[in-house]
Amino acid sequence: MQYIKPQSIFTILFFTALVFVQCSNTVPSNVAKSVLSTNDSTPKDTMKVIKTEEEWKQQLTPKEYKVLREKATDRPYTGEYESHWDSGIYVCKGCGTELFRSETKFDAGCGWPSFYQGIDSSKITEIVDKSMGMYRVEVLCSKCGGHLGHVFTDGFGTPTGLRYCINSTSLGFKKKE
Ligand SMILES: [Zn+2]
Repeated sequence: MQYIKPQSIFTILFFTALVFVQCSNTVPSNVAKSVLSTNDSTPKDTMKVIKTEEEWKQQLTPKEYKVLREKATDRPYTGEYESHWDSGIYVCKGCGTELFRSETKFDAGCGWPSFYQGIDSSKITEIVDKSMGMYRVEVLCSKCGGHLGHVFTDGFGTPTGLRYCINSTSLGFKKKE
């Protein structure tokens, strides 16, 4: 019964095409913007201490720089805190953030200081590390981005079942008075 004039069909097609063109123009640019803004804001939100590589080199010893900034690993059974059982708090060597309590340190027999829990989960950032052909979870200081070590799920017999395997070189220690 209804008769649509050819002119109306042309109008409908024109507006449909217009909407399509607008969508295809705006959607990708919005996506691109959100990706860029996410990437742009991540370091500012999570890395509170931001220094140039030159500044880190001046602050840290060459060994500390290699571990904290270049993700090197202490040789097993060589670190200062591997067999260290004093009471106190382990801090980040890069920025002094309190990371682990001595009460959560345990002897995992792996050759590195091992903790089953951090002081505060917000102080430790965990990211997937697929380097060296392995699937591991890397542990970083949330404040300065310093590499601390890795966390594994073989902390057998501990309250969390986790083993934060940390380089002594990444740590400082504040002894309990
Ligand atoms: Zn730090």
